[in-house]
Amino acid sequence: MIYQYWNEKFEKMPRTELEAWQLERLRETVACGLRTPFYRKRLAESGITEARDIKTLADLRRIPFTTKSDLRDGFPYGFLAVPKEEVIRLHASSGTTGIPTTIYLSRGDIARWTSFVARCIYATGCDKTDVFQNMITYGLFTGGHGFHAGGEEVGMLVIPSGPGNTTRQFRLMQDFGTTVVHATPSFLLHVESKMKEEGVGRDSVKLKRAFAGAEPYSEDTRRRIEELLRIDVYNSYGLSEMNGPGVAFECQEKNGLHLWEDGYIAEIINPETLEPVPDGERGELVLTILCREATPILRYRTRDLTGFIPGPCPCGRTHRRLYRITGRSDDMLIINGVNVFPSQIEEVIMAMKEVGNNYLIEIEKDGVLDRLTVKTEVTAATFMDDTRPLNALKERIRRTLQASITINPRVELHESGSLPVSEGKAVRVRDLRPRDV
Ligand code: ADP
Ligand code: ZN
Repeated sequence: MIYQYWNEKFEKMPRTELEAWQLERLRETVACGLRTPFYRKRLAESGITEARDIKTLADLRRIPFTTKSDLRDGFPYGFLAVPKEEVIRLHASSGTTGIPTTIYLSRGDIARWTSFVARCIYATGCDKTDVFQNMITYGLFTGGHGFHAGGEEVGMLVIPSGPGNTTRQFRLMQDFGTTVVHATPSFLLHVESKMKEEGVGRDSVKLKRAFAGAEPYSEDTRRRIEELLRIDVYNSYGLSEMNGPGVAFECQEKNGLHLWEDGYIAEIINPETLEPVPDGERGELVLTILCREATPILRYRTRDLTGFIPGPCPCGRTHRRLYRITGRSDDMLIINGVNVFPSQIEEVIMAMKEVGNNYLIEIEKDGVLDRLTVKTEVTAATFMDDTRPLNALKERIRRTLQASITINPRVELHESGSLPVSEGKAVRVRDLRPRDV
């Protein structure tokens, strides 16, 4: 394979040099932090009152973790490290798990962020000859703007279509010869279903690649999108607290996400003991941003579950790779006392070819017990009038799920296109149990 690098010097930087760079940037970030009310207090409690107190990278561990609730407590300006007139943009998280948090960016911050996103896009083999349709939300959400700027930086023709309205999306693809799209994996599946439904032939579009992220998805879901649409799908990971997209991305090897260590320091910790876990093991990702002056965030507990893949990548990049993110520690459902991650359910059902492109997990109270219902769409070919094969399929899904999660679910089969679709991040879980007060 021929690899291309947007910034070869940094992407292939020897580890010792990369770590020296990290130390320098970390000091700089601590200096920025000390200009914020939040970190001035927090760092002083750990005896850090000036950047020079960080002598080696190991000193990072002297810095306490920052949590989402810290960010909320600091709302709106507790984490701002530059005068307000130096800030030219703000973004906010999607608020999947509560009140959104706000991030401020200076002109330099946006330039650095953009170059990380450009690096990701270029690493997948795209270049200025590509036509890029950005089918993700713009607005406060970081995904739209981040990829838009990155795509322009690479020199692609960027179509800021935003999400939704699949009929219009197809028109744009056909009219302008779109070769690459960016979307949530759930929206890509929806696009594929709609293409079939509306009779849009695969050969009427020139698609080659997709960047898919903003929500967890399984390897089977990736494969499904790749096979159905006949494209390459690259996993894209980011979060607004760390700028948004451009934190970690797959290269052409499609085997783990390179975490850009010249822009971020990543740690994987055991979420209970808070101790680091060795490479190859999974835990919670903790990130420190090294490339942003306006809103420094140190040792942020992302709650995202992943780990470092041991060993180098054949592409020659020296930045370590993360496993596919399976979800967040707070996605975990406790159903009749058993811990279940939605990703475990997705893995089982998306591996079955009769299962369609959308599903929904519902949990209700049934007397004292919890009841889990898994609703899945089935492909048009499967949905026949004869109920016998459908019952057999239902039973097979139920048994396979039970073997995987140890809970006996109810399974409902739905016609293709009948379960609700969301434009942004998919809502896969509906927990209808009354909350304890
Ligand atoms: P919110 O935390 O409100 O959803 P963001 O819009 O910043 O805010 O979303 C970032 C989160 O989205 C990440 O922390 C992660 O949980 C999820 N996410 C983003 N990209 C991926 C991906 N490729 N795989 C799995 N999860 C992802
Ligand atoms: Zn690689």
